[in-house]
Amino acid sequence: MTKIIKVQKGTKDILPEDISLWQFMESTALDVFTRAGYKEIRTPIFEATELFQRGVGDTTDIVNKEMYTFEKSERSLTLRPENTAGVVRSYIENGMHRLSAPVKLWYKGPMFRYERPQAGRQRQFHQVGVEMFGVKEPAADAEVILLAIDFLKNLGLPNLSVEINTLGCSECRKKFRALLIETLRPYYDALCDDCKERFEKNPLRLLDCKVESCKEIFAKPEIQQVIQSDFTCPDCSIHFENLKSYLDALGIVYKVNKQLVRGLDYYNRTVFEIKSENLGSQNAVCGGGRYDTLVSNLGGEPTPAIGWAMGMERLASLLENKFDDKLDIYVVSDNKTETLKLVQRFRSLNYSVDFDMAGKKFTKQLEKAAKTAYFAIILGDDEINGEYLTLKNLETAKQIQVPFANIDDFEKHMYKFIRTNSSEWMQSKLSMLASGFTIS
Ligand code: ATP
Ligand code: MG
Repeated sequence: MTKIIKVQKGTKDILPEDISLWQFMESTALDVFTRAGYKEIRTPIFEATELFQRGVGDTTDIVNKEMYTFEKSERSLTLRPENTAGVVRSYIENGMHRLSAPVKLWYKGPMFRYERPQAGRQRQFHQVGVEMFGVKEPAADAEVILLAIDFLKNLGLPNLSVEINTLGCSECRKKFRALLIETLRPYYDALCDDCKERFEKNPLRLLDCKVESCKEIFAKPEIQQVIQSDFTCPDCSIHFENLKSYLDALGIVYKVNKQLVRGLDYYNRTVFEIKSENLGSQNAVCGGGRYDTLVSNLGGEPTPAIGWAMGMERLASLLENKFDDKLDIYVVSDNKTETLKLVQRFRSLNYSVDFDMAGKKFTKQLEKAAKTAYFAIILGDDEINGEYLTLKNLETAKQIQVPFANIDDFEKHMYKFIRTNSSEWMQSKLSMLASGFTIS
């Protein structure tokens, strides 16, 4: 027998049965980000390895352990593990600093990290993200956090928890670093190998360690005292206070988590994460922060910037139960000529419509309708003789008759009710239609 080749560990097909959910996330992203003045950017899937070494940082897990790197024509290339470095490269290379600030960009697409696959963690996964260049003021921090929340709301995920922190600037971080190293030194031998390695190079990253024995060390009172202390310089402190007051004014509920450091090297000042309790241990949906030195570190004009990325597989698993893939209408009829005419008419009005082509019995057609659609349009002999069609709400079984003469009104009503991207609408449309829907 010929051997069957399987999908690679940590990668998944997104199958036709799941695609509506992905298209919904993508169209919601386009809609929400466009309204906020963001333009989509599409950068290559692979870049020079050096871009990530310099851009993400060579003390990070991503660069040290997780990159898919390969050689081609004596060049070292890497499949992108994240997209900020690529977007910054493109910003610099295409002279986008000459555009009027702010430059607001968004992206979506696959990322690649060699990690241990588990629920919520894949080797090829997808992110949607935004980056804003050219504004150092904290109103920009508020805007990108608001945008993340707005996007989640539009997906029908309004109640996730937002955590923020400030890492300060490199100046004020120096004191904190020194204090942290000094307080942790007595515990050095008990730290995991990764933490030992990061100890001098990047001690802040230790606070992000997921190893239980390390977490216990960080929970000790004298270390918590350092973590909870306020080390920020006056400017960084004002920046953070302003951000908080904007979030308060916007009614955004957040928690300050002083232990939140994020896994990438390039952040300064504001960092944030959005989490869901419903995701088990891989509970972070969104991670982001300010990276005011990255553009200049990669050779561009000094440009302040801030952004975030969300894991789309994790969003998808939160949406799974809320989202269904039903058609608006299934036409049930033995008269294929009239059916085809109706199907064409309603499809051109933007409904999703399907019908039986295989000559199935009327009752079988009704069963298919009940499984696959919200509404059936029934066109039997009675209907054709009486010049009306029957519209049946397949959830409530309530049905109404619509005379052919009134069909234009009917379409007007239906149009308002059926096609929209809002998932809140998805949930409420049946109940709205079941109560009070009348044809004038
Ligand atoms: P984690 O702590 O979960 O490893 P991270 O700090 O490595 O997250 P980021 O680089 O900030 O993650 O990426 C932003 C988002 O992308 C995460 O919040 C998560 O939703 C998603 N993500 C990151 N790595 C993976 C992965 N291997 N599989 C699926 N989603 C991922
Ligand atoms: Mg990670």
